[in-house]
Amino acid sequence: MSTESDELRFTDLGLAPELLKAVQDLGYETPTPIQAGAIPPLLEGRDMIGQAQTGTGKTAAFALPLLQRLDLERRDVQAVVLTPTRELAMQVATAVRSYGKHVGKHGVRVLPVYGGQPIHIQRKALQGTVHVVIGTPGRVTDHLKRGTLDLAGVHFFCLDEADEMLNMGFLEDVEWILDHAPKERQIALFSATMPSPIRRIATKHLNDPADVKFEQKTKTVQSIEQASIRVSRHNKNEALERILGVEDHEAVLIFVGTQRMAAELAEHLSSRGFGADCMHGGMNQAQRDHVVKRLRGRQIQLVVATDVAARGLDIDHIGLVVNYDLPRDPEVYVHRVGRTGRAGRAGRAVSLWQPREQGLLRSIERFSGQRMEDMRIPGVEELLARRRMRIRDQLISLAGEIPADFVAWVKEITEETDLEGDALTAAALKLAWGEGPLSAPAEPKGKGQANDHYDPVDRVEIVLPIGAQDRVRPGAIVGAIAGESGLPGKVVGKINMRERVTFVEVPAAQAERIIKALTGVRIGGRVVKPRLAHPEGAGGGYSKPRQHGPRGSSRGPKKGPPRGFRRR
Ligand code: AMP
Repeated sequence: MSTESDELRFTDLGLAPELLKAVQDLGYETPTPIQAGAIPPLLEGRDMIGQAQTGTGKTAAFALPLLQRLDLERRDVQAVVLTPTRELAMQVATAVRSYGKHVGKHGVRVLPVYGGQPIHIQRKALQGTVHVVIGTPGRVTDHLKRGTLDLAGVHFFCLDEADEMLNMGFLEDVEWILDHAPKERQIALFSATMPSPIRRIATKHLNDPADVKFEQKTKTVQSIEQASIRVSRHNKNEALERILGVEDHEAVLIFVGTQRMAAELAEHLSSRGFGADCMHGGMNQAQRDHVVKRLRGRQIQLVVATDVAARGLDIDHIGLVVNYDLPRDPEVYVHRVGRTGRAGRAGRAVSLWQPREQGLLRSIERFSGQRMEDMRIPGVEELLARRRMRIRDQLISLAGEIPADFVAWVKEITEETDLEGDALTAAALKLAWGEGPLSAPAEPKGKGQANDHYDPVDRVEIVLPIGAQDRVRPGAIVGAIAGESGLPGKVVGKINMRERVTFVEVPAAQAERIIKALTGVRIGGRVVKPRLAHPEGAGGGYSKPRQHGPRGSSRGPKKGPPRGFRRR
């Protein structure tokens, strides 16, 4: 991925004003590398192969050109996007609608089609105006064979997550669809990896495709301590506040994906008592300079920034970079993290990632050549302990240089009240501490850590080759796991059932036992052979699951007294 592409703006790509407006509404500042690489050739009508993971912005990379090339006066289907799962089909449909919200008089009509939804509902929808069909290959093939979908007017095909379609056994359907497509058509193929069956499809069906992929560059973040925390989207603010509560740095740079998010998060942090401000591409130079001045002058400790605004930001005392949103481009990660650890100081970076961004996280690690340490969201006791430590350190350092009038004041109170020094010191500490307990209440036995609701158990996913099409209920899977392994059903975490496979979250420590116990067992009428999902090096877009255990011991104790974030 070239740095030049980082400099490109959306307005440089040849997109129509109504699409630029939608992009602006969404708060995107600059195209991601895959967008910068894919949009121009797709707008020219060329075929293309894009090597990109989920999370890199690939949906807009094909959706924007797709939308630009639609004739909305027509009522027939003109573009077909094939996805491996129904979830992705729905997600892409939502994205295409939002990118296309300003196009045409009556807007763009997008229909997701997938197994699991009664086919007659989709058939009825297809009888009306539909411009874009987004579906799983099985269901699209089904419609074509029934004659409920006609490809005659389709000039744009996208194969999204082609390697996943291969993994799910959809490749035959994909080929069948392409074999029945009009000869004059354009194809965009996106895949995180390029196993040979995908290459073969590309060679057979694509015509002189543009190749868009990442290029490895040198990275310079070796000296920076890097950690990552798995969070769900709605836990991000809480996770961030807790991180700020236990990490001790004079200045922190927090990166987010959009201008709107930068403004909102800075406001939120301010309302929670942190000294925070934002910096984004929508602010003029004078406004940005003002923020930098406040950070340099230590009037604020936190700046929430987008990548564009933080470019060239050079402040030596930034001790911590937080990736509140993971960057879509590994190279941008390296730039962001390089904002700390300057002038020979220690630097630290913490990245929040959502379960669906696991692939992106791994590609960042591969690119930077460094693994991020797994970190847990700090628990309540950890926060309180850190606070006690700070007050204690401040007390000790003040005691060495206490002004004479304060000593006299203590003497005066002692004489007036007969109170001992210990009682007075404890009372002064209580004043400094404020409301609330000094430590967290003890956890009930067997309940785990203080932040139990963040699911501290190490979890992995196992995959079962049965899914919605086999009419299996999640309850049957839990029952089989409990019945066969002898473990309580509550060890089973999230169950993600797709059309042909099901992903089941289980504690890492019990995964092997569960796999052994289930092998050869019949569930929903089928003999299953479970395996660990996302094995390392597999052809799919999945990667080995990260384990969400307590921090490793590699960090070692912090040296020197913590400074901490004082809330205003
Ligand atoms: P995708 O890889 O298409 O699933 O996109 C991942 C996320 O990145 C989505 O939440 C998009 O809204 C967001 N996104 C896509 N393009 C950009 C961009 N140029 N700037 C900021 N965010 C983006």
